[in-house]
Amino acid sequence: MIKKTINKLLNIGFDDEFGNDLNQKHVVNFSYMMFCASCLLMLVVFSFRQMSSVAIFSLIGLLIGIVGLRYNYIGHFSRAQLLMPILKISQVSILSLFYFGTESGFHWFFVNVIAYSFVVFRADQRFIKCWVVGISIALFLLCELLNTRGMYLTTFDQSVVIIFVFFALSFNFAMVINLVMSRLKSVNTHLRTLAERDELTGLSNRRKVLADAVNIFADSVINRESCVFSIVDLDHFKKINDTFGHEAGDLVLSKVSTTMASVIRPQDEIGRYGGEEFIVIMPNTTLKEAEVVMEHMRQSVEDLLIETEHGIVIPVTISIGLASIAPTVSRYEEILAQADRGLYAAKRNGRNRLSVQSDYQT
Ligand code: GH3
Ligand code: MG
Ligand code: MG
Repeated sequence: MIKKTINKLLNIGFDDEFGNDLNQKHVVNFSYMMFCASCLLMLVVFSFRQMSSVAIFSLIGLLIGIVGLRYNYIGHFSRAQLLMPILKISQVSILSLFYFGTESGFHWFFVNVIAYSFVVFRADQRFIKCWVVGISIALFLLCELLNTRGMYLTTFDQSVVIIFVFFALSFNFAMVINLVMSRLKSVNTHLRTLAERDELTGLSNRRKVLADAVNIFADSVINRESCVFSIVDLDHFKKINDTFGHEAGDLVLSKVSTTMASVIRPQDEIGRYGGEEFIVIMPNTTLKEAEVVMEHMRQSVEDLLIETEHGIVIPVTISIGLASIAPTVSRYEEILAQADRGLYAAKRNGRNRLSVQSDYQT
């Protein structure tokens, strides 16, 4: 529940899940959340201690912080991005110089502003970044040099503020690193999916299915298990394209793929080999069992009712070649080649059928 709310707040103003500014936007939202929380905390503490000027100052900070969050919410990201350091710099310098004094260590929050600039501003915003960093360093040095005495804090308060500053800064850094890492992880997963999926059919692409083939073949050899490879090819697909158009051809490929993926068993792998050819790998399976699975697939595709946008039903069938691992086979490519010979036999014998090619029947 809390995690969900935090995630919702962090995602304020996003629609594109993998946009370029994503990490930056998260950090901007996170900074506003932290800023508002700190203002709220100070508002409560200083109202309680009847120090109205700091309380009012915190209230103003809180309201402007909410305005910043709203900017992000309505899509004015660059405004929100720029308002944050201005707010932070004003808050830290006014509180350090006039209220808490240098001894409180409050001016160390400038480190936070500098870190924010490095994470949030892009390469083309170098100019703004330099200004923010420069002003932060100058004001930090000013606080150190002036060595002001706090008007409101006792010596005890100041040591409390020092500990608070230390924890707040550490927490901030840890959270930002965590955010960036988790974004990197999800972008990585997304990229891997893109690299392994075939866009049109949603199945594994050639690279992925062949990688699966190598692994399953190796496992089967090690475990002395039977394993079946199958190649599926759509019949007269060129004619479908020529008759109904390329778009209808794409639709057929997509529908047939969905059907094929739905009839294989959970342990089986399917992928697009290229064009209108697919590979199905069935680990720990005998040829007889594989024939049942693939015959079911053939029948399901034949039974498919794929309609063009003009309501015409496109008849579609598949031919299938099957081959199983044999003791004489040492490379997966050999079974694949056998399955391919099976496919050609199926085509030769009239299409819309299975053909098993194996010297070694199980
Ligand atoms: P056969 O029954 O002997 O397999 O005949 P076929 O027409 O299916 O085989 P052929 O190899 O002559 O034609 C395959 C066609 O598949 C040619 C190519 O334009 C088409 N094709 C390949 N990839 C795609 C695709 O992604 N979308 C569409 N619409 N067509 C594709
Ligand atoms: Mg074909
Ligand atoms: Mg083909």
